[in-house]
Amino acid sequence: MPIIVEPWRLDPLFAELGSLRGVGDALGKLMARALGGDRVIDLLFHVPESYIDRRQRTTIRAALPLQTVTLEVEVMTITPPETPRQPTKVTVTDGTGFCDLVFFRAFPHQKLRPGQRVLIAGKMDDRRQIAHPDHIAPAEKPEQFPGVEQVWPLTAGLFAWHLRKPMAEALTRIPSLPEWHDPALLRRQGWAGFTASLTALQAPEALPSPLPRQRLAYDELLAGQIAMGLMRRRVRARPGRALTNRALTDSALTPPASLRAQTLEAFGFDLTEPQRHVLAEIDADLSAPRRMLRLLQGDVGSGKTLVAILAMLRAVEAGAQAAIMAPTEILARQHARTLARICPVPSALLASSVTGRERARVLQGFADGSIPIAIGTHALVQEGVEFRDLALAVIDEQHRFGVNQRLLLGAKGEHTDVLVMTATPIPRTMLLTQWGEMQTSRLDGKPAGRKPIRTTTHPLSSIGVVCDAVSRAIAGGARVYWVCPMVSESEVLDLAAVEARYASLADRFGARMGLAHGRQDTMVREQALADFAAGRTQLLVATTVIEVGVDVPEASVIVIEQAERFGLAQLHQLRGRVGRGAAESFCLLLYDDQLSETARKRLMLLRETEDGFRIADEDFRLRGGGDLLGTRQSGLPGWRLANPETDEGLLHMAGRDAEALLTRDADLVSERGQAIRLLLRLFGRDDAFRTLHSG
Ligand code: ADP
Ligand code: MG
Repeated sequence: MPIIVEPWRLDPLFAELGSLRGVGDALGKLMARALGGDRVIDLLFHVPESYIDRRQRTTIRAALPLQTVTLEVEVMTITPPETPRQPTKVTVTDGTGFCDLVFFRAFPHQKLRPGQRVLIAGKMDDRRQIAHPDHIAPAEKPEQFPGVEQVWPLTAGLFAWHLRKPMAEALTRIPSLPEWHDPALLRRQGWAGFTASLTALQAPEALPSPLPRQRLAYDELLAGQIAMGLMRRRVRARPGRALTNRALTDSALTPPASLRAQTLEAFGFDLTEPQRHVLAEIDADLSAPRRMLRLLQGDVGSGKTLVAILAMLRAVEAGAQAAIMAPTEILARQHARTLARICPVPSALLASSVTGRERARVLQGFADGSIPIAIGTHALVQEGVEFRDLALAVIDEQHRFGVNQRLLLGAKGEHTDVLVMTATPIPRTMLLTQWGEMQTSRLDGKPAGRKPIRTTTHPLSSIGVVCDAVSRAIAGGARVYWVCPMVSESEVLDLAAVEARYASLADRFGARMGLAHGRQDTMVREQALADFAAGRTQLLVATTVIEVGVDVPEASVIVIEQAERFGLAQLHQLRGRVGRGAAESFCLLLYDDQLSETARKRLMLLRETEDGFRIADEDFRLRGGGDLLGTRQSGLPGWRLANPETDEGLLHMAGRDAEALLTRDADLVSERGQAIRLLLRLFGRDDAFRTLHSG
């Protein structure tokens, strides 16, 4: 099969923005900030959010206040400023009324002389003034006047005119490309080619119809679906292993089935019904000879850890090893403590703070198999960490890890099964686009006997009332978290805020207090948490270092300061630190007395419900469908041209299209397959293809 377009021909699109004429260092940086990337392709995929049609003329009389207008007018008078602070005023008319053009800065003498007829465009205010018109051209030269103008998302200091020339040049860099879509599909949808569609959006001669964006959205979705399909095939192609209980075949060993029983007994509670159900799903995967890739979604406090532990024991029972990776050292250490307490087999923690002899011992134990259970942070996926036989990798609170990290731990073993756990609800469309290679399980509900968490809101001015409540709770033996937000850009200032709060509370609550924040030495912070967990302290002042997963069932009160500064999902996570035991629990949200309407609504929602899925939904709505998982936090790649929420129809189409293509041509060697390789490269999805063919 001939190569149609060599992939290197796309290289000019992957050159830096600075390779475009007129884009220097400073402009390049500004552009990169707005585009979310610093290559030519990032500019091309930075599509306008709307357009202004400058060809539509109106009259001064017909213009609505605050409307962006194009007028053909005659210059009447020019009034120079009397003082340097005043603007130059140019009064114009079109016979239907008068209008003032206002210039605070330099004003274009050449173009505006009394008696001249000009075309002007700009936004008219409610006093019939246009400050600094966007465009001015002689009326007899309408060709100098723009037609349709792009309104790109910008950033402070960056203007549309900055982008215009670089964009035009970028468009010329697109090589001639073969069509990767089925011609019948294009006909049916009325879609033009890739380059034509991009040009229609980025250099429009007329207001673009929805078709070009749709076509490009489909390109992006298809690239994603093909990448995922390739990944899925890769996973399936590697055989898994059937983890069976060795006791069944090798009765000389202690009946290892009892590992789970012993662990549950040490834990002190039975599995809940949902836990049992989910564990059965996992067991079925583990004992099947294919590789498991399962996502376990369960709300905060639903009891995912225990499920993970029992799944890991299945690997151990089969004579192999298991590992659990957590996003923070606090959480990893907590898992390590839990395992040490309830599991009858050796386990060890690996984190960057584990050094020297202990590190050597742990690495040795993982490598020779004498430590069957590994617990750790991302230190686990580093080079040099080896396992004798890693059968199961668990990734806890996955939203904190980058997308690809979820597979890295699994790559530490030959046929490693992977279980990913998350409390952050992942919307259905995102499951389809980002998690399609995974099976999913839902852990609904919480362990029995839990009472609802009572959530209340308080203005900062009534912090005294809150302190009184905390004081009563502490006198009654309760354990209380007091969360201070990270508010400023500066860690030093944040630290000062936490320490100041600690000091002011210490005046009142004295010795039975602890302090935990991210700038502490690991050991100091660990000690503070351990003291709190053991009840040696009753009030823990902390930053969001406790946000994810911290589990002290005896804690029953959480105070969150400046709650309005947190995302709803984060507040839900924080609140989930209480309500983990049988005691009635309370969450007190303190807010700054000035509260915006949206902020108020968000806090109200939290008062109303404890359902993480509902909270995520509403949060999505309140934020106008922005970035649900907090992309910054989660590292999930965003979409440039498609919106999986609103383009769901296209998404399903792309899913079917990708499956059909890969079924026929999994190696992408057919004519269409080769064109698809280019598509993957354009959308940065070609790693899926490359890894497939390298390993
Ligand atoms: P998450 O799903 O948020 O990770 P955890 O695994 O930390 O939740 O569990 C929340 C709390 O519920 C913990 O204190 C845990 O010990 C407790 N728990 C888990 N399973 C059960 C159970 N079956 N019965 C009673 N308590 C349980
Ligand atoms: Mg957890």
